[in-house]
Amino acid sequence: MGTLATILTLILIFSFFVFVTFFGRLPALKNTPVASLYRLLWVHLPKKIYSLDTRFTGGRFTSSISRFGNHMLYDRHPTVVIIFLVIMLAGYTLYLPAIFPQISLLTKATCCVLASLPLIFLYLSCAVDPGYVTPETLSYHMTLYPYDYALFHPGAECRTCKLPKPPRSKHCSICKRCVAKSDHHCVFINSCVGYGNHRWFLLLLFSTAAMTSFGGILGLSVLGHDLQRKYPAFTLLPSRSVSNSYTRWASIWGFGLHSNIPLGSSTLLALLTSPLVWGLFFYTLYQVYTGVTTNESQKWTELKEDMEDGYAWTRSLPMNRTRDLKIEPRCERWPVQPERVIVATVDGLAPKRPGMVGEGEWVRVRALREVENLYDMGFWDNLGDVFVQDYAFGEGLDEPVAEKRRKKR
Ligand SMILES: [Zn+2]
Ligand SMILES: [Zn+2]
Repeated sequence: MGTLATILTLILIFSFFVFVTFFGRLPALKNTPVASLYRLLWVHLPKKIYSLDTRFTGGRFTSSISRFGNHMLYDRHPTVVIIFLVIMLAGYTLYLPAIFPQISLLTKATCCVLASLPLIFLYLSCAVDPGYVTPETLSYHMTLYPYDYALFHPGAECRTCKLPKPPRSKHCSICKRCVAKSDHHCVFINSCVGYGNHRWFLLLLFSTAAMTSFGGILGLSVLGHDLQRKYPAFTLLPSRSVSNSYTRWASIWGFGLHSNIPLGSSTLLALLTSPLVWGLFFYTLYQVYTGVTTNESQKWTELKEDMEDGYAWTRSLPMNRTRDLKIEPRCERWPVQPERVIVATVDGLAPKRPGMVGEGEWVRVRALREVENLYDMGFWDNLGDVFVQDYAFGEGLDEPVAEKRRKKR
């Protein structure tokens, strides 16, 4: 069991660190052990190493590590994509030749399709323009979404790109450009996830999750049937039928995995990575369901804190207001328009600046549930907006989409 145990332990440790690194900063996991472990790994431990290094080598070790780390973290390079591809292709090389002699033609075809899809979607996620905002594409990206006057207000300019910031866009310090409907920069595709490639990213996660589940279960059933030939009383699921003992059942499984190392190790790799990929897929799908991007979910969290501290204010935004079309083009595509403006002030007092948009008295907003998310049109329309470029809302409906659904956050 030596080789298998080592592979298993390494995969488990790796998956756990990936989980902590990716999920540790999520607002939803604040005040949980995952967030504490993230801080320990990525804040406290580097600080401790830095202070030790300053004392012993004058900081030489950490400065070269940080130069390398900065390059790895803040520049575009395909290292993680290559590692991801190598692991995937190594898995295929171990798995497919070992399992092919033992499965039907239809199952072989399913394996080939399931093995190809993640590669195709990985290529599309990497190669398709995520929605970079350039002088040429600016006017197109400006008309995709309206400003919601809560997270995105017109008139802001990116300090680096020197271009107006379209609604839902964000500057990526790694791509060094603004990205339309920016979700996050993903090292697994060496690109941002944005308006242009969100659909390919979602399909990459789904196809990888489906492949690892199918491969894992198929591998287990083939290995199990091999074992049943040797031990007729053996069952695939935990059972005491073999010599009346779970330990013996587990040790027969161990023997089975060990007797076919290529199939055993690739099956374990598939089974252990599968929950992580399904987790990432459902998290991304949940964001589509709620109509927020990762970037917006962080902005909503900040606004929520401002609301709870009494720093957020709102007032009405008349529908017939005059717009400065130079900074706020009309968005014909989006079926709803903002009805309120929400701002957070630095001193906690009502906004006083003359000429601010909106009319009527400013009132404090105390909770997120009092506020509408303009970009949430309901799950199916949100999904349509991800998958269809320039998605037309409400086609074939009698009632306007705006009436159909105006959901509170
Ligand atoms: Zn920018
Ligand atoms: Zn980026």
